[in-house]
Amino acid sequence: MTQPDRGPLSHRLKWISIVLLLMALAATAGWGIYKLPAPLVDRMLQIDILKQSELWKRRVVLHLANPEVALSTGAIDGHDAEFLSSMPEASDVYRFKLFDTTGRVIWSTRPDEVGTTEDRAFFRNDVARGMVHYIQEIVPLSEIDGLDLHTENSANATQHNVAEVFMPIMDNGRFLGAVEFFTDISDLRTTFIARLRVSLAVLSTIALLALAMVLLVTYRTNRFQVQALHKQSAKERDLMDEQLRLAREVRLLGELNEWLQSSRSLDELFDMVTRFMTHILPEAEGSVYVYSNSRDVLDGCASWNGGSHKAHIHPEGCWGLRRGRTYEFGASEIDFVCEHAEPHDGRPYFCFPILAHGETVGLLHLRAHDGSGEAFHDSKKLAQLCAEQISMAIANVRMRDQLHDQSVRDPLTGLFNRRHMTETLRKSISRSQQTGARLSLIAVDVDHFKKFNDTHGHDAGDMVLRAVGAALEQGCDRDEVACRIGGEEFMLILPDNSADDAMTHAEQLRQAVEAVTVRYGEKSLPRITISVGVAHYPAHGTMPQDLMRAADDALYLAKDKGRNQVQVAGAAQTAEGSPKEVAKLHPPASTA
Ligand code: GH3
Ligand code: MG
Ligand code: MG
Repeated sequence: MTQPDRGPLSHRLKWISIVLLLMALAATAGWGIYKLPAPLVDRMLQIDILKQSELWKRRVVLHLANPEVALSTGAIDGHDAEFLSSMPEASDVYRFKLFDTTGRVIWSTRPDEVGTTEDRAFFRNDVARGMVHYIQEIVPLSEIDGLDLHTENSANATQHNVAEVFMPIMDNGRFLGAVEFFTDISDLRTTFIARLRVSLAVLSTIALLALAMVLLVTYRTNRFQVQALHKQSAKERDLMDEQLRLAREVRLLGELNEWLQSSRSLDELFDMVTRFMTHILPEAEGSVYVYSNSRDVLDGCASWNGGSHKAHIHPEGCWGLRRGRTYEFGASEIDFVCEHAEPHDGRPYFCFPILAHGETVGLLHLRAHDGSGEAFHDSKKLAQLCAEQISMAIANVRMRDQLHDQSVRDPLTGLFNRRHMTETLRKSISRSQQTGARLSLIAVDVDHFKKFNDTHGHDAGDMVLRAVGAALEQGCDRDEVACRIGGEEFMLILPDNSADDAMTHAEQLRQAVEAVTVRYGEKSLPRITISVGVAHYPAHGTMPQDLMRAADDALYLAKDKGRNQVQVAGAAQTAEGSPKEVAKLHPPASTA
């Protein structure tokens, strides 16, 4: 079975879609790398600055001589003022203020701000309740005090990112005041953003590569799985087809066997073979040959499906018959064509010897049709089985024929026996009764045969009987039946003969026997003669025994009249002709 065609175009489309997907992801990642860092960094900076602010606040509170008093009264002594003034130089804070509980500035790095009040709502709502307040904003460069200390790379930038942190100063849950720090985070922010972008770029690249790998592996695994599934289903389909084919072959073989077994003659059998073989092996033409009785040649019996058969072939001309086994032309590098397969066009063929009871009875010849090469070779086993079925059937028909022959034939002369003669005569009379067809019966007896036997021996007598039988049989037409009814007595049934024709026929038989010469050993035996009696239906009888008796009577008359002659039954009953007329027509010959 073939897989559905998944052409290069479909593959290319798949790859293009994967690459496009990866490019889309890379673009998204790039956009993310460009856009995402700022808010992230701001959040990170907030955490960082808040931590830092906590430390700064502690430093301020720890260095104040009495923070509680200083914050509540706003009284900052010289020592405290000195420390507070040095704070911007000793830290990243460029400006800071101290508030009392009301939000009034009690100290600032900018002295002009002392006495002003922070009246923004968050101070009352958040800071006064102990919560830290963080503000990040962008301010002009002029807003930053002590530039050379608190800006580095961004010194020339006109806009600066600054963090403004309000830290409440609490004592056992009591709000004492607050401190506000200003710190320039521009450089830190820029560094953080640059680092984050690099990290994100590296991570995105790794993620994209991993994704590409996963896609690739998944796609390949999928492809292998699909291919494996296709293979599996094709295999199962093949198996199913094979099983269906086998079931059909078994059924056809069974039917062939049944039909062949019920065939009654070889002709009927070959008709069946022709029909079945065309059906069972449509990719082959065929023919069947059967050994003739003489066994020196095989007779062509049937051919089918465009095949032809020769009238006769010689067993030596077939490699199958010569070697006693199936011959397959076209299976080996070197082949020889059978004589019976000539003229040959190179197509492969089989020759199956047909064997029955260990004896070769014929040949089944099958030849491939054009273009059926593989299928033809595959059919070898089935063809072999057919050959076996045909063999058995031929053997059966032959055995049936043989048994039938044995029951109706006389073994010495091969002529029909008395039983068959009586039966045939009965049928012939009944047919004549129905159709009015004419019918004559001829009784034959060899003259002086006892004497012949006594003189030349029983074997010589047998040879003569055989010769007489052969002469009588040869003298019979197709519908006429010659029988040996016993000893040296014969009888012939002649349907559709006029009385005159029957008489003429009887005379011809007499002459034919008279002309027979039999050689026995070195010498020729003396000629023998026959006496012949003829009776006609219905003139001399309408029953088999009556007609036979009438013919016998005529035979005795011939004996009485000197033998070697033809006599018709009683002249008084004769419808046509008379003994005298017959005698005139066929003058008695000299007796032996
Ligand atoms: P007729 O001319 O009157 O018929 O004389 P016939 O001698 O032929 O007649 P008869 O009935 O006296 O003799 C028949 C002989 O045929 C007797 C027997 O020896 C011989 N015979 C019968 N059957 C066979 C047979 O199967 N083989 C041989 N060799 N002889 C047979
Ligand atoms: Mg006799
Ligand atoms: Mg006799």
